[in-house]
Amino acid sequence: MGTIENGLQAVKSRVARAAASAGRSDREIVLVAVSKGQSARAVRTAYMAGQRDFGENYAQEAASKMAELADLAITWHFIGPIQSNKTRTIAERFQWVQSIDRLKAAERLASHRSGAGRAPLQVCVQVNVSGEQSKSGCRAEEVPGLARAVAQLPGLRLRGLMAVPEATSDEALLRARFGAVRAQLEALRRDGLDVDTLSLGMSADLDLAIESGSTMIRVGTAIFGERSKA
Ligand SMILES: *Cc1c(COP(=O)(O)O)cnc(C)c1O
Repeated sequence: MGTIENGLQAVKSRVARAAASAGRSDREIVLVAVSKGQSARAVRTAYMAGQRDFGENYAQEAASKMAELADLAITWHFIGPIQSNKTRTIAERFQWVQSIDRLKAAERLASHRSGAGRAPLQVCVQVNVSGEQSKSGCRAEEVPGLARAVAQLPGLRLRGLMAVPEATSDEALLRARFGAVRAQLEALRRDGLDVDTLSLGMSADLDLAIESGSTMIRVGTAIFGERSKA
């Protein structure tokens, strides 16, 4: 096996182990392979090994890879900051957008997507769970209002929440961060929103995220190795 196949296999083993120790089935957890900074060829290799969901942070980089990979049935997830001038590209090319952090961006995506015959764009609201200035995502207190507004937009289907906690080796802190996002998702459900997705966990912390209830993990380096600067 090549290194990408090995990486995928290792991540799947981690998912299975974490799910088992949390008394969950690993089939509840979607693995999104984050291919930013990786070549189209690397994506193709992972696809041939059975991987179907891929995540990208930059619309332009993604669009050129998609052109090379048009023969593959990939589900593409946009997980980066949403620039207003990229909303058309994002709405037209991706199946998921996990990084909705303001209503304006969601409205622009909706207007580009809601044309006849298109499946709705599956979206998550991204929450800045650590409160760091530099981090993407809306503030925690904005989640209920933003989620409710996004759920009303045509062309979009609100699926849940996504978050990236601060990089830390403090497991208790990470558990608290993941737990806070999970509590917010449960609050949305109590409010009557039909949401099922908790997108938490990356290469370093996917095990803890799964123990904390994550249903979708976004993993780059643990599959592909270090990325070249995009
Ligand atoms: C880059 C990125 C990832 C993947 O990070 P790794 O540490 O390489 O697994 C996951 N989520 C988001 C939002 C990212 O930007």
